[in-house]
Amino acid sequence: MTLWHGKVSARMEFWLDLNEEQTDLRDWVHGFAEGVIRPAAAEWDEREETPWPIIQEAAKIGLYGFEFLVNTWSDTTGLSLPLVNEELFWGDGGVGMALSGTSLAVAAIYGSGTPDQLVEWVPQCFGDAAEPKVGAFCSTEPEAGSDVGAMRTRAVYDEATDEWILNGQKAYATNGGIAAVHVVTAVVDPALGSRGQAAFIVPPGTPGLTGTRKLKKLGLRASHTADVFLDDVRVPGSCLLGGKESLDERLARARSGQRASRQAAMRTFELSRPAVGAQAIGIARGAYEYALEYAKNRVQFGRPIIENQAIAFALADMKMEIDAARLLVWRAAWMGRNDRTFAAGEGSMSKLKAGEVAVAVTEKAVQILGGAGYLREHPVERMYRDAKIYTIFEGTSEIQRLVIARAISGMQIR
Ligand SMILES: Cc1cc2nc3c(=O)[nH]c(=O)nc-3n(C[C@H](O)[C@H](O)[C@H](O)COP(=O)(O)OP(=O)(O)OC[C@H]3O[C@@H](n4cnc5c(N)ncnc54)[C@H](O)[C@@H]3O)c2cc1C
Repeated sequence: MTLWHGKVSARMEFWLDLNEEQTDLRDWVHGFAEGVIRPAAAEWDEREETPWPIIQEAAKIGLYGFEFLVNTWSDTTGLSLPLVNEELFWGDGGVGMALSGTSLAVAAIYGSGTPDQLVEWVPQCFGDAAEPKVGAFCSTEPEAGSDVGAMRTRAVYDEATDEWILNGQKAYATNGGIAAVHVVTAVVDPALGSRGQAAFIVPPGTPGLTGTRKLKKLGLRASHTADVFLDDVRVPGSCLLGGKESLDERLARARSGQRASRQAAMRTFELSRPAVGAQAIGIARGAYEYALEYAKNRVQFGRPIIENQAIAFALADMKMEIDAARLLVWRAAWMGRNDRTFAAGEGSMSKLKAGEVAVAVTEKAVQILGGAGYLREHPVERMYRDAKIYTIFEGTSEIQRLVIARAISGMQIR
């Protein structure tokens, strides 16, 4: 071994403080969550309806729309979006998802579309302050959940009219049927499996696309979820995300047996996962803070229940787990924004940890409130229901573990 001849430079920098713009943004969104979302959350959960007045209010103050998204994305640390999501979902999971569901469609357009398609369709997903709209991303099908390769929805090109014709059924689509713009994935060449798939814009009012009745859910009830049917839906050739030339090249590569760029597809998912993880952290933090206050005030055996180690230690663990999950989310968000390689599935780690923490923390919060925690009079009951989806959608916890295990081993883990 040689001696270490390096020296620690005074210019080496590392810090975890947020800058002033980030704390301003976080505090501004928190104000909206505290003043507008939280007070209305129980009502919209009961009604199980999209909270259009809240979306409109968010759009009016510039918290919902294309420009806001561009602003948060322009933060080179990558932290603005997780900061916003944590605060919105601290306010409420269901209302938070009603405000964030559109970003699933936007992420798909951003991931697969051309710059022209981005400029044309993303603003239409949001509408404007006077008449806000929502977007939907429809990928899951009854027979294709975790196994995206089992997709059956077909897209066939009609050369005579330069149109794509979509037929099939999509399941559990957030904002399905009520969205202005639907982004739909479909098979263009069944012989190529998941490499023969593409994504399409279905413009507002296109005949043949119908959302069935809204699905009744355990949680996130203010967010609309529906199955979507596509019956001879004709969309212009320009609605193929990425364009025909790029699709033909991709299909030709697949047909010639060239290896797929798995990295690219995986990277798109890894990029979006910290933003979802931040939503789970928001719900967990809301429950933790409520339980902490309750434990300080609830008296049993002549003392506040927090004076029992069993309760105080539970709260200490809840806080620690939330902070640990947030660090994983911030790391993955920073990596994504700064083009780092997700060599160990760091995006998946962030979503996996945050989702599991949200489930555990909200469950502990209910326990700390005792019988009161089981009642709708306290928000932890709703938070407990809302948290569970975070181990299921956007890739289940098992699928996240699969991604991490494959990344660290380089093996085909099943
Ligand atoms: C409220 C809500 C909103 C949603 N929003 C959208 C949306 O906007 N757009 C969209 O496209 N989809 C959406 N989804 C669908 C969601 O992404 C899927 O439900 C999810 O991907 C899981 O698919 P699945 O339900 O078919 O479960 P399955 O894939 O059937 O999985 C069932 C169980 O088997 C496990 N499993 C499956 N394969 C493996 C494996 N190889 N190894 C180990 N375990 C495995 C899973 O982890 C899970 O525990 C939404 C779902 C819900 C409930």
